[in-house]
This record gives sequence, structure tokens and C-alpha cells, in this order.
Amino acid sequence: MSSHESAERSGLQAVFARLIAATGPISIAHYMAESNGRYYASRDPLGATGDFVTAPEISQMFGELIGLWLADLWQRAGQPERACYVELGPGRGTLASDALRAMRRAAGRAGLAPVAHFVETSPALRAIQRETHPDAVWHHDLSTLPDDRPLLIVANEFLDALPVRQLIRTAAGWRERMVGLAGEALVPVVGERPMDAAVPAGFADVPEGAILETCPAAATVVQEFAARLAGQGGAALFIDYGYDRPQLGSTLQAVRAHRKVDPFASPGEADLTALVDFAGLVPIAEAQGARWLGTCEQGAWLRGLGIEARADALARAAPSAAASIRKAAARLTDPEEMGSLFKVMGLAAPGWPDGAGFTRVSGG
Ligand code: SAH
Repeated sequence: MSSHESAERSGLQAVFARLIAATGPISIAHYMAESNGRYYASRDPLGATGDFVTAPEISQMFGELIGLWLADLWQRAGQPERACYVELGPGRGTLASDALRAMRRAAGRAGLAPVAHFVETSPALRAIQRETHPDAVWHHDLSTLPDDRPLLIVANEFLDALPVRQLIRTAAGWRERMVGLAGEALVPVVGERPMDAAVPAGFADVPEGAILETCPAAATVVQEFAARLAGQGGAALFIDYGYDRPQLGSTLQAVRAHRKVDPFASPGEADLTALVDFAGLVPIAEAQGARWLGTCEQGAWLRGLGIEARADALARAAPSAAASIRKAAARLTDPEEMGSLFKVMGLAAPGWPDGAGFTRVSGG
């Protein structure tokens, strides 16, 4: 890191401190959006030397099975023409490489040759994606994506990076949870304005201190894609760590160099995420006319798609790598690793068939 970058990064803390001193506490959503915008704009956070590792970076099997899932659904939907591949927050472009290769192999002869459309705001990550996907089309948000053809959509660890809003139950009723100042430090504080009208009736009697977390940005993304699926055809997979039954409490966390750190200590220098409320997303998608194919744990979904057989085949082809291939499969599927906490939610256009792997349906 250059000294210029270092000054600029610690600058976000000072910017927040000045803003709060001048105009009062800011919402958690404002804090998270600005912090992650700064965080992703300037760096590649993925991998052993970065801050965190994602499933596609663990093994090619992850992206390949996603590609096969999409190709299978596309074939059974009657092989509609001009379907394109859309990925949200493609990181290093690894998942897209593995998925597109598998899709072409499985259904290229049948006419599946999707153009890749990437929704990515980070200039640093766009530059990395361009190296392996020179022909992709980049978008700043969803509004410019093609609107006249089926979309095969993938989002892995994207929704968890979108800003959450938190409401907290106090003795005097519901308030917004915000970020304020204690000396120079940024700390969570309770807003002054009553927020009772923003809380669904079912939460009226929860104990003092309870936190209700929502992610309006994730709801908006799912709503827009669901409407597009209904109008254009296609399917979507949202994969993230999250929960499939409503729950209370803050799930905001910050990760830096593979360790959890205080989410308020270093804005713009740590990855801020929150668990995805998958159950809450189902009615939003269905209200737009999309089909909910199911939500299940990542481990069960990957096993249902045959990750063990794929690992065996890869291990036979490269015996010296057999141990690391099996270790990667275990990391993706074991309940104590990524298998249980991560969920896969499938959506499709009305009239499209069921998706493979969604046998253990939960949520809703
Ligand atoms: N899907 C990748 C990367 C996950 S990290 C993988 O699994 O490895 C989150 C990704 O979302 C990054 O590419 C980041 O730049 C992007 N991102 C985060 N917030 C975004 C936003 N609001 N709009 C578009 N992209 C965003």
C-alpha cells in the first residue's frame, strides 16, 4: 500500500467523524454503503493474501456445477434463443470462467453461447475481470441489462455486501440504530426519531435491545430480477451466507485479513457484510410473478448436483492433486465449513421447469 492510499483510506474515518460532528449520527445503511464502496473500489480483496476467500476461488467445481445447472434448465425450458449470462459482483471472474466453460460444453451444440454481462462497480475488479473476459459487457447497475432476451443470472456473495438498515427496540419504542461519535471513535448509537411505524405488527412485543435488520437494497435487486424473469424468461441463483427463517439481531460483521474485526473501527479497510434474509426474499420474488424453485443449504445443493462424482473425475485426471480436490469439496459442502451457513436460492420464469438440486426445500 502506498502512503497516498493509506492516507486516503484512513480518510474515510475522518470524513465520517466530521460529518457526524456537523450533522449528527448517520444510519448504519449509509455507513455500510460508503464503507463498502470505498473498500471495493480500490482493491482485489479475494484470496489468501487478501481479506477473504469465496467458493469459486476454492475450486473450479463450484462454478462448473452452477454452469451445468443453468445449461440443464435452459435445455429443459426449450433452448430459448439469445439467452445471456448475467453475474452480479463477479469478483475475479473465476466463477464466470468455470460456469461459461461448463455451459458451452454441456449445451454449446444445442446453441447455448451466452454473452457475459457483469454488474460491477469496482474499477479495480473490472480490470481483473477484463483480463479473462475481454468480450464481457459491464454494467454499473441492473437498469442497462438487456431487456429483450432470457437472462441466466448468478450472484455469489453479492447480496451480503449490500447495506442493511437496523432498527432497535428501546424503552421508548423503536428507533433506528445509527453510527455516532465517542470522542474520535465511531460507535453504534440509538437515533432520536420514533420508528415504530416502520416495524411490522408482529414485532411489537419483542424485548428491549432487540434489533430488526433489513436489507432494502437486496430486496430491490431480487424484485427487479424477478420482474425481468417474468417478462423476459430465464433463471437466477442467489448464493450467500444467510438464514431461511426470520430472526432478530445484528448480523453486521467486518472481515480483514481473514479475521473478524470491529465493524466500526476501520471503514473502507475491511469487508462489511450481513447475513441474507432468504425467507424475506421469496414473497418479493413471487409478487413479481417469478417462480421460486427452492432455497437449500449449499452443501446439500452441491451434493445433489454431483460434486462427489465431479471430484472423483478430477482426482482421477490429476492423481497428485487428489487430496486437495477432496479437501476443496469438503470445504464447500461440510456443515461446519461452508455447507450449512451458505444457502442457494433458485428463481425462474413462470413456465420454466424445476431446478436440479432443490430437493430439500425450506424457507418461504
Ligand atoms: N462473486 C465473487 C466476488 C464476491 S465479493 C466471488 O464469489 O468470488 C463482492 C463483489 O460484489 C465484488 O465484485 C464487488 O466489487 C461487488 N460489489 C459490491 N457491492 C456492489 C454494488 N453495490 N454494485 C455492484 N457490485 C458490487
